[in-house]
Amino acid sequence: MQSSYAALKKNLTNEKWRECMINKAFNDHHKRVLVVDDDVMLRLLARETLEQAGFLVDEAANGKQAIIEFERSKPELIFLDVMMPDCNGLDICTQIREHPEYNNAAIIIMTGLHDFDSIHRAYKAGATDFIIKPINWTVFGYRANFIATAKQASDQVRYLAMFDSLTNLPNRVLLLDRLGQAVHYAARYNKMFAVLFIDLDFFKQVNDTLGHDIGDLLLKQVAQRMLLTTRSSDTLARLGGDEFILVIQDVASPEAIQIVVQLFMEHFSKPFKVDSHDIYLTASIGIAIYPSDGTTSSDLIKNADIAMNHSKKIGKNDYRFFSFDMQNELLQRITIEKELRKAIDSNEFVLHYQPRIESVSGQVVGMEALVRWAHPERGLILPEEFISISEEIGLIVPLGEWVLREACSQTKEWIQTGCASLKVSVNVSPVQFLRGDVLGMVKRILEETGLPPAHLEIEITESTLMQLRTMSIATKPDSLCNMLDRANGTQSDLITILQSLRAMGVSIALDDFGTGYSSLSYLNIFPIDVLKIDRSFINVIDESTDSPIITAIIAMADKLMLHVVAEGVETTSQKDYLISNGCDELQGYLLGRPVIWSEFIKTLGP
Ligand code: C2E
Ligand code: MG
Ligand code: MG
Repeated sequence: MQSSYAALKKNLTNEKWRECMINKAFNDHHKRVLVVDDDVMLRLLARETLEQAGFLVDEAANGKQAIIEFERSKPELIFLDVMMPDCNGLDICTQIREHPEYNNAAIIIMTGLHDFDSIHRAYKAGATDFIIKPINWTVFGYRANFIATAKQASDQVRYLAMFDSLTNLPNRVLLLDRLGQAVHYAARYNKMFAVLFIDLDFFKQVNDTLGHDIGDLLLKQVAQRMLLTTRSSDTLARLGGDEFILVIQDVASPEAIQIVVQLFMEHFSKPFKVDSHDIYLTASIGIAIYPSDGTTSSDLIKNADIAMNHSKKIGKNDYRFFSFDMQNELLQRITIEKELRKAIDSNEFVLHYQPRIESVSGQVVGMEALVRWAHPERGLILPEEFISISEEIGLIVPLGEWVLREACSQTKEWIQTGCASLKVSVNVSPVQFLRGDVLGMVKRILEETGLPPAHLEIEITESTLMQLRTMSIATKPDSLCNMLDRANGTQSDLITILQSLRAMGVSIALDDFGTGYSSLSYLNIFPIDVLKIDRSFINVIDESTDSPIITAIIAMADKLMLHVVAEGVETTSQKDYLISNGCDELQGYLLGRPVIWSEFIKTLGP
């Protein structure tokens, strides 16, 4: 590089060479220098020398000007006089080092030979180097170049250590550094700032479906778009994966942040074009504000993360401000999670059974197994409090297996008594299909317990069907199987699993029918034996003399040769209406509440 400059210089006049170097310096961020000294002669000589050495030079004659010039030109090098009429150069040095953004310049203090005290204090104030006055102008240019080159090298190392190589955004290390400064600055000047935790929704599925290369290109585009709303004083960093943090400096009020966030979210309204794909992406955002939500970098990130998780839970593609209630909720959740993990080993789960009554005969023909958690301190806890957490932490797989084993072995016990034949229905969660091997589990447990398959019914909710369908579609457009294959390493898809269960003699019930927003065509696609009409439809029977939805469901099920069960029958008029309209089976508090096995068999009679 140096030799090509030398060759260039040989062919140019001094004037041209100077111009050329100035142009180069214009393009070279690392060669901008600010000379701060009240001595006009010194500034003149410094300018001459530095420009000849290829620098672009700005000048300041006092402390005030120095800060203005510094913020305007953002120099990489600053030559700073110690003694100036309006201030001490060391104070300027401190002020620059505390600047929330441009604090990385190399600061070279210009001081007298015997002023050792100033030299000590200069290093303490964050100076990079010092140069002795009176200045040797021959050495000065070389010295400046040496410092600039050294700084460039250290910037390179710093860049690699502090920036994300994919998006070129600051990484966690730099984010923490900037956040630390933001906290310091806000505390000192009594300011408010916001930390936004941004997590892309369903990004994993993009990676899984379209591959990591597309995922990477998408992340780059997302970063570019997000940068569009950020001011130069804000910091947008990538924490890793699909997680980003935006630090918004100097905000006036939470309302002002809300406006920024809404603008920010608009970036996601248009699709991202990656290769030939139009990818629609959304983000969930959590916001923590300094100082009300935290006064340290780690608290602010943690609380913004809590708020982000909240907005994910509520339905994604949304933002939430942190509140201390969220933190309490999280603590409670962590406690439940911990206790749940223990509960399975401590045998704290129990099954209750609710009878299913045949409409025509009024006989109990089966029962639904419903799990409860007998908590040592809190007593009996209903599934709505722990099933979704168990699903999130994967505990539903062993719990579901326990439920199935318990239900099958108790039913087998009953069958052995030679009394009326009963079918037990067991709820299976979508997570069991995704993370477990439902077919293998059913086969194994039927073998272990000796329950004939015809006495078992698997209930999957309509929303499970839809969930598994969308997840699979996201993975592979025209097949349901890919996600499942990945999850359990088998070649089966949901339809195949259900068909195999049926081939074994196990029946399949579609639970909570009417609530899953599914298309009726799924009734043709999926191998289903039973429709369980959701309680919400049964509830309204009392309010009107006619329930066309129910009669329509029953008529449709009849045509499709599906058995119909009404859930949540609570009154005699509901029961009578359902029977008179041809509903095959009834389940509900009117006919029997869920009770433990020993109680349940008492209701079956001798
Ligand atoms: P589900 O499968 O639809 O079960 C029926 C729910 O309705 C049960 O609530 C039952 O107690 C309740 N119920 C029955 N009859 C009536 C009635 O007449 N009126 C009213 N108001 N409610 C009635 P439960 O036991 O709280 O279970 C709630 C849900 O938790 C179940 O809904 C099922 O989706 C899930 N669940 C229960 N046990 C398991 C399990 O072992 N595994 C899985 N994955 N989910 C389970
Ligand atoms: Mg059910
Ligand atoms: Mg149900």
